[in-house]
Amino acid sequence: SAKPMTREEVLELRQKHFMKSVSISYANSGGLMIMGGTGSRLIDDEGTPYLDTRNNVAHVGHGNSEVVKAIQTQVSVLNTNTRYLHPNAVELAKKLADKLPDPLEVVVFVNSGSEANDLALRLARAHTGSKNTIVVERAYHGHTLSILEVSPYKYEYSKEFKMVPNGQYGTPGKHIYKVPCPDIYRGNYRNPDTAGEVYSAYVKDACKHYQKTGETVGAFFIEGGMSVAGVILPPTNYLRRSVEAVRAAGGVYIADEVQTGFGRLGSSYWAFQHGAEEVVPDIVTVGKPFGNGMPLAAVITTREIADSFQAMGVEYFNTFGGNPVCCAAGLAVLDVVDKKGLQKHALEVGAYLKSLFLELKEETELVGDVRGSGLFIGIELVRDSKTLEPATAETSFICTQLKDKYKILTSIDGADDNVIVVKPPMVFSKIDAAFFVNCFKRAMKELEAMGDEVLQMKKTPT
Ligand code: PMP
Repeated sequence: SAKPMTREEVLELRQKHFMKSVSISYANSGGLMIMGGTGSRLIDDEGTPYLDTRNNVAHVGHGNSEVVKAIQTQVSVLNTNTRYLHPNAVELAKKLADKLPDPLEVVVFVNSGSEANDLALRLARAHTGSKNTIVVERAYHGHTLSILEVSPYKYEYSKEFKMVPNGQYGTPGKHIYKVPCPDIYRGNYRNPDTAGEVYSAYVKDACKHYQKTGETVGAFFIEGGMSVAGVILPPTNYLRRSVEAVRAAGGVYIADEVQTGFGRLGSSYWAFQHGAEEVVPDIVTVGKPFGNGMPLAAVITTREIADSFQAMGVEYFNTFGGNPVCCAAGLAVLDVVDKKGLQKHALEVGAYLKSLFLELKEETELVGDVRGSGLFIGIELVRDSKTLEPATAETSFICTQLKDKYKILTSIDGADDNVIVVKPPMVFSKIDAAFFVNCFKRAMKELEAMGDEVLQMKKTPT
């Protein structure tokens, strides 16, 4: 057989044919060439396994045999669009709807989280007659033109959007209103007992802002656990109070579960259910883990909202959405999550991992905050526990050590690139967790040995 391409050859072809804005992880050291994967491990071109603490797409594990078999079996028989009847799509729709509270029962299959969120916006606009959307600072909901508008994470730093003043914050237009991230570690309000009320007051203000000019609100777009912002779980009462205000102003509540769905938080199957106060969304979007890597995403909404969309008189067709092969993958994922008890597993392993990092927090100033639930954990590194000065260069150094020396892949996020976001495949074990923390401690020792030199080092994009 032909000789496999070397990493250098792959890099050369990328440089010629790919956009520079399509980035790779660990670019400083030439990137990783990943050729295989199993469970919570990825394997590079030399056969070296890496512990994967960041891949929330391979939900039931890299190369899960049941998902692989489901895909292989279906693809060898048929793959076509949803203009024909097929059991896979309806069966998956039923199983997905069964995982959600009433009245969320209408399912539309699409191919990516961005597409799901784009359709969610269209549904909200059709139902409410308003384009006005309230979004949270540093949120990311996807890459399409419409969804970039509700993704401050992208335009907060981008020249693509011309900012217009809107309330307190700049956004791409007055139909988008940005509210502060309800962060009780670094944000302006840090009392966990009252932060929910205080931060939701901004959502109320956004509603008032539109109502003052005789307008209504279309949608409030939010994740039940904000990932790109650095694992921010909404404080108690935040969602309830915010959604009350939004609904009173005519808007709907869109819960983006693209990162957090399917049991990741351990406590509940969906992040919007986390904590005591479940507020049922009007529209839910899912993606990433749904197909364990196959392009499968969905929008779930109420019959009432779906009917409002239908009343617009436009047919909805999506060539690849809900095809039998991707649905076979989705069915296998739902099945494996339940059969293997992965939600409970995430809760247990996550609590263990969190406790290890909390111990470390007691011992070192660098670990400023450990937060999250299940296998959705944020570790925020700081230089000073009083000023919370972000330890950005240190985070980069530690993650580079973890990859180079200990073969552990991590993800850095948060506004200051100082939060290690742990969101591994849900089969991540207690042994994986202990290994991760032990290596983290060693990397911290190496960081100490570096002294101030670390501040001069180039940042590793992740
Ligand atoms: N929503 C959230 C919360 C996400 O994190 C992402 C992707 N990182 C998306 C939506 C977009 O999903 P996709 O890349 O599949 O379009």
